[in-house]
Amino acid sequence: MAIRVAINGYGTIGKRVADAVAMQKDMKLAGVTAHSYSFNTEIAKQKGYKIFTVGGDNDLKLNGISPDGDLNNLLEMVDVIVDATPKKVGKENLEKYYKPKKVKAAFQGGEKHEAIGTSFVAQCNYDEAINKDYARIVSCNTTGLCRTLDAVNKKYGIGSVHATMVRRGADPWDIYHGPINAIVPVLEMPSHHGPDVQTVLHNVEIFTTALSVPSTLMHLHTLTVDLKKKANVNDAIELFKNTARVRIVRNAEHLRSTAEIMEFARDLGRLRGDMPEICVWQEAIGITSNSHNKLLYMQAVHQESDVIPENIDCVRAMMGFKDSEKSIKMTNETFGIR
Ligand code: NAD
Repeated sequence: MAIRVAINGYGTIGKRVADAVAMQKDMKLAGVTAHSYSFNTEIAKQKGYKIFTVGGDNDLKLNGISPDGDLNNLLEMVDVIVDATPKKVGKENLEKYYKPKKVKAAFQGGEKHEAIGTSFVAQCNYDEAINKDYARIVSCNTTGLCRTLDAVNKKYGIGSVHATMVRRGADPWDIYHGPINAIVPVLEMPSHHGPDVQTVLHNVEIFTTALSVPSTLMHLHTLTVDLKKKANVNDAIELFKNTARVRIVRNAEHLRSTAEIMEFARDLGRLRGDMPEICVWQEAIGITSNSHNKLLYMQAVHQESDVIPENIDCVRAMMGFKDSEKSIKMTNETFGIR
């Protein structure tokens, strides 16, 4: 029987997870919630998704949408709910998912690890979410760091990592956040990303710094990794080429910037122009020439989409599907990821 999934919080992440659920052969999208009326709700209606109210009366009916019920009605119909509400709301929702019956719930990276108990990146620690009632798909930045660092750790062993996240100021649709004319450092050391990586890659020593810039397209990470074994650039390129949900991009292709990567994703015909793979620049992979055990690389992270396949795999793991590789393959096929 198909896994019945609901989405609570139908915004940047929620609408993408809803479409991804609807694409899976082993899942059925039971419905999505609407906290308030917007173009997102209109599109959900056009797609034929059932729409449920949350937080009492809102302006759906005024705008010609007849809801199919409320959150409690939706909870009666599902095995798992994906909570993609704004950060910290998910934690407050956790208890609601016990009523009217206990429903499993997958949360996003805006919630703290401690509130949920299990943090998840499919290719790193799928097994930790198997049969869990609650799990958290880590943030877009943490997902990006975990995907590539896990591969590096398995091949070379990691002594320690220093990474800097150059973060987009806001999502493209977002008229409220910034900066629009500043570079804003995160004034805490380490930034929260390093400890967050350790909720998934438990034994990796990592120190992170971060700053925000006036861009909406992607995040960019620079990493310096002390390796336990010697490495060379060609092997490192091959490693990333063969890592799930990682894509090597090249200067020669004129994929020299986050802007060009986003244009490339649109040209690939990806839904919404998304790029769920972490893009590592081939020419920006380096190994220090004296010791051969320090790896440097740069990667771009499409914040709106890299966590979407993770949500799908997390739902499968929570429902007891044990084969991580098969789950990743099934999900990737529906996204057109190589
Ligand atoms: P968003 O603001 O785009 O969407 C949130 C949606 O939830 C909106 O549609 C809003 O109307 C609705 N909502 C608000 N309060 C609600 C409530 N009480 N109940 C139900 N719905 C409610 O937010 P987002 O960017 O999709 O972020 C959702 C989660 O995903 C957060 O934890 C965030 O940290 C995480 N995340 C975001 C990104 C990103 O770049 N946008 C990337 C990875 C993870």
